Amino acid sequence: MSLWLPPDRRVTTDDESAAPGPARPALFLDRDGCLIEERHYLSDPEQVALIPGGPAALRRARDAGFLLIGVSNQSGIGRGKIDERQLDAVMCQLSDLLAAEDAALDAFFYCPHAPEDGCSCRKPAPGLLEEASARFSWERTTSWVIGDKLSDVDLALDAGLAAALVRTGYGREQETVLRQRDATGDRVLVADDLPAAVSAILAEACR
Ligand SMILES: [Mg+2]
Ligand SMILES: [Zn+2]
Repeated sequence: MSLWLPPDRRVTTDDESAAPGPARPALFLDRDGCLIEERHYLSDPEQVALIPGGPAALRRARDAGFLLIGVSNQSGIGRGKIDERQLDAVMCQLSDLLAAEDAALDAFFYCPHAPEDGCSCRKPAPGLLEEASARFSWERTTSWVIGDKLSDVDLALDAGLAAALVRTGYGREQETVLRQRDATGDRVLVADDLPAAVSAILAEACR
């Protein structure tokens, strides 16, 4: 598993690790199809397009006290479709687009492996959450995973977090599969997009 930070924050990486202090709620945010429009094996920074209303939603969540942590399967690296340099360029662009609207992620963790690698960090495996635990003090019972795939939903449910599925990206077809499978009482929030999911989560958090 790997951590991406903006260039201006890389020098202070060690100082931030395992930050002490009270555990905070966290939003674990899928990237493709959730934070930004889905593009197949995105490698060109020019193709990065934020989901409308996303930065404002991130600001509201940040102001409500949530850590904002990206968690992303980037199997394009393991499959040889994209390289780490292209991922970096895409992430720099995403970071710049967010910063232009006074929004930011606290960190971005990604799995660079192909499915057949059998790693412990490809969602829904919990490796990216464990990596986040090594750097941040976050609280399981008040934290959410938001994404457009069942791998995001299952990452949350398997680890005891709440799950939100967004209908952007692959979300609409994944919602159909979600409704067909035996939910065994698991409650999954389904929302049209990231801003709608954040609104529902904040309404719940304030109750
Ligand atoms: Mg996705
Ligand atoms: Zn992995």
